[in-house]
Amino acid sequence: MHMRILNGIAASGGISCGKALVFTHNSLEVSREKIEPEKVKEELEKFDIAVEKSMKETQALFDSIDDDTRKEILETHIIMLQDPEYLSEIKDSISIHYQNAAWAVESVTASLIATLESSDIEMLRDRAIDLSDISRLLIENLSFKRSKKLSQIKKEVILVADSLLPSEMLTINKKWIKAIAVDTGGRTSHVAIFARSFGIPTVLGLYGASLKARDGDEVILDGNEGQIVIRPEWYVKKKFEITKANWEAYQKELLTVAKLPVISPDKKDYVLKANIETADEVAPSLEKGASGIGLFRSEFLFLQKNGSLKEDVQFEAYKEVLEKMNGNPVTIRTIDIGGDKAVAGLGIDEENPILGWRAIRFCLERKDIFRIQLRALLRSSIYGKLHIMFPMISGLDELEQTLLVYKQVQEELRANKIPFDEDVKIGTMIEVPSAALISDELAKRVDFFSIGTNDLIQYTIAVDRGNEKIAHLYQPFHPGVLRLIKIVIDNAHKENIPIGMCGEMASNPYATVLLAGLGLDEFSMSPSSLLEVRKILRTVKYSEAKQMSEKVLKMNSSKEIVSYVKQWMSNRFEHLPSSHTL
Ligand code: PEP
Ligand code: MG
Repeated sequence: MHMRILNGIAASGGISCGKALVFTHNSLEVSREKIEPEKVKEELEKFDIAVEKSMKETQALFDSIDDDTRKEILETHIIMLQDPEYLSEIKDSISIHYQNAAWAVESVTASLIATLESSDIEMLRDRAIDLSDISRLLIENLSFKRSKKLSQIKKEVILVADSLLPSEMLTINKKWIKAIAVDTGGRTSHVAIFARSFGIPTVLGLYGASLKARDGDEVILDGNEGQIVIRPEWYVKKKFEITKANWEAYQKELLTVAKLPVISPDKKDYVLKANIETADEVAPSLEKGASGIGLFRSEFLFLQKNGSLKEDVQFEAYKEVLEKMNGNPVTIRTIDIGGDKAVAGLGIDEENPILGWRAIRFCLERKDIFRIQLRALLRSSIYGKLHIMFPMISGLDELEQTLLVYKQVQEELRANKIPFDEDVKIGTMIEVPSAALISDELAKRVDFFSIGTNDLIQYTIAVDRGNEKIAHLYQPFHPGVLRLIKIVIDNAHKENIPIGMCGEMASNPYATVLLAGLGLDEFSMSPSSLLEVRKILRTVKYSEAKQMSEKVLKMNSSKEIVSYVKQWMSNRFEHLPSSHTL
């Protein structure tokens, strides 16, 4: 087989070389062919063996982990795998309806899940998730076409996948995954965001990489340029070795700026913070000089725990981050589930989830879940400097309703004499165009803003941020986007509240000077980008940045802006990757 070079979207920096492990989602298709009556006995035996195998695997997993919540879930699975009613219904489908075993498991489970999901009792709805996990395991063990489970990877590989879900990213062991190549996805999809947080070089939107690579093939992946080479020739490998060495030397050199103040040569101060998804990322954020956490995506706790998260579990997680940050500010965003972050069992299953029931819209309907999170947050506030931020606010009424729930939770804690910090700062993300347009009003009601460009761009230009087919239309430098950003910054300044940005645009080195010139005070990003942005902010005078941004605001096309900004930045900085999203 020949060498193949594929170009995609540079999603997380770094260069890696290793052996491919191909991960696809289509290996679990169940054939719905009837069996011959004389094959019933054989099919029943196959089913018994699969049940036994599934039991053993679940028990082994149970024995190998310490996490109590996961243990509880696995215990339920073990009980369900022995449920006589469930097993005999499947056996009936085999012996009476002549369904093959995998089909019988699928059909019996589907009808049970439908019943459980329509229940009013939360515990029963939760069981539906367990049941679908069990049926997947049984079908895998019946079909002998086991999908390679990401969590079971135990050697260094370059993962080449047809697609990846944010929840799947959570199951991988960072130690073994040297790089990730995916057929689908865009630079601001949550898989990309996760990859950057984990510091795993990643290329997305590769169309068919998972078909072209085979397990064990040698692969080189360049996450800076968005390229992978499958089965590279020796001379290509040589070239990549040099590129890799140069890049690593530059990263080392950048570390020297980590502790230097973020101040421009003409004395304008900026604040640099980190975006995190788990408490593990606090240490690398501090190492790279973050002075706070600008966005803690709390929904990932929920994704990890299948949506059921007790107040105390949340409280411990928030407290851990606050304590680790040693009194530096920590902005925790209330759950932003829905969209591409669907959590099983919460009834979020929509035709058009990006415009659907997500984030604050979900929380204002499910106030039970929202209140628990706010209680946990407030209780944790005495362990550090907490800021709370609300996602996807689209208008004044929504913000007011949200603030009302917040006040009620405060009252409840006061009444019960539960201590919390009365001075917690409350802010809102600006990531919906309508919020940007009325940010003058919103600014009067909160303590800070943070611009979420990942969503703001997708909603302003009507371009799905995760869809690689239209990635070329996802333009951070679209004049419409820049005008909205300018409106928000000016409105925040009029009301004297800090204005930050936690969308990925804040980490794009090509955008740094432009954003500084527009008046942005705070930049929050994945730890891997902090050093480069810090270096740029320390090098360019604010007066120059302002001039540049004024010029850009007069331009009318993305193309014109991109070419001007690219030229400007390349004249001043030599190491910027050539294919960074512009
Ligand atoms: C954003 O939309 O820019 C943002 C920071 O939130 P998320 O990426 O989690 O949607
Ligand atoms: Mg968002």
